[in-house]
Amino acid sequence: MSSIIVEAREIRYRYPRGMEAIRDISFHIRKKEKIALVGPNGAGKSTLLMMFNGMIRPDAGIMLFDNEPIQYDTASLRILRKRVGFVLQNPDRQIIAPTVYQDVAFGPANLGYSEEKIRDVVSLALRHVGLEGFERRPPHQLSGGEKKRVAIAGVLAMDPDVLVFDEPTSGLDPAGSEDIMELLDELNHEGKTIILSTHDVELAYPWADRA
Ligand code: ADP
Repeated sequence: MSSIIVEAREIRYRYPRGMEAIRDISFHIRKKEKIALVGPNGAGKSTLLMMFNGMIRPDAGIMLFDNEPIQYDTASLRILRKRVGFVLQNPDRQIIAPTVYQDVAFGPANLGYSEEKIRDVVSLALRHVGLEGFERRPPHQLSGGEKKRVAIAGVLAMDPDVLVFDEPTSGLDPAGSEDIMELLDELNHEGKTIILSTHDVELAYPWADRA
């Protein structure tokens, strides 16, 4: 059996002036697993996912990545976020640059890659998501499914070990959803650990190793 990559030990979290969103949750996820986090709106799925790359820090308990407790200083979070890629539910909130190329290049540029390496990883990532030739397109002119792919390419360009998807098919039609789920399977076959949240039981159960 593969080793554990993500682990939570009795974590709790309450939003400031808000309700308790996470109460005493423990679990582990192994390398290369396909995990679906299933529950109705408001169950706490997004909150939990945001613990995986340190965007939210539990009030109690600990989160571990690769068997080490997550550290929340800037330098440690930088390393963690290269290894745990996060694809937001709404691609409009993830896509920031005026062209597809610049958007996908943003992460690698931040990691200090050379121009040449940036070109290579961007072109590989775009090929991966089926968006070759989209380099110069302005993201706001793309369809919902294409925007989602740009967001995924931006994360893939940093070659993370774990990919976290918050409601990956939200807003997509059935064909678009199916394409995205196929892409997730492909990435999993290439060795990535995939964690997604969804309220869609019919989507989650046939796809996931564990839900
Ligand atoms: P899900 O992803 O399962 O829909 P969330 O993790 O978004 O659930 O939300 C869990 C709970 O935390 C909900 O009750 C929600 O209202 C609350 N919540 C989420 N974000 C915030 C926030 N920024 N401030 C206060 N409460 C929040």
